[in-house]
Amino acid sequence: MKIICQHCLSINNVPKKDEYKKANCGNCKNSLLEAKPIELTSSNIDKVLNNSDVPVVIDFWAPWCGPCKAFAPVFTNTAMGFPLKALFAKIDTEQEQFLGSRFKIRSIPTLIVFKDGKEIERVSGAMDETNLESFVRKFI
Ligand SMILES: [Zn+2]
Repeated sequence: MKIICQHCLSINNVPKKDEYKKANCGNCKNSLLEAKPIELTSSNIDKVLNNSDVPVVIDFWAPWCGPCKAFAPVFTNTAMGFPLKALFAKIDTEQEQFLGSRFKIRSIPTLIVFKDGKEIERVSGAMDETNLESFVRKFI
């Protein structure tokens, strides 16, 4: 399956397994198991959405939004629980206003889940770690 490296955004081919002990990026050699949210922009979003065989969960946020900032550590911590199962990404809608309008973001934070390049679910408002984890698990 195709996996986007969260360090250098290159496309890796990784065999699909239930558990992984070790998986390194063929390009930058960093571990693909260190799951952390990546920053998306209009220049890299289509590459990521179209080349990830695992669901992509995007947090649309902005620096001026208090609830978004409170939600950020929840999102980062939850990402660590899904190495090679889901790709967590963030879009700063202040910097990337084009993407905010492309995905019709009306309130933040908004989470959108993409699979095979298509939106399959969206939810607005922050969640705690328990709720976010079970939300993401539905798509795996
Ligand atoms: Zn890499």
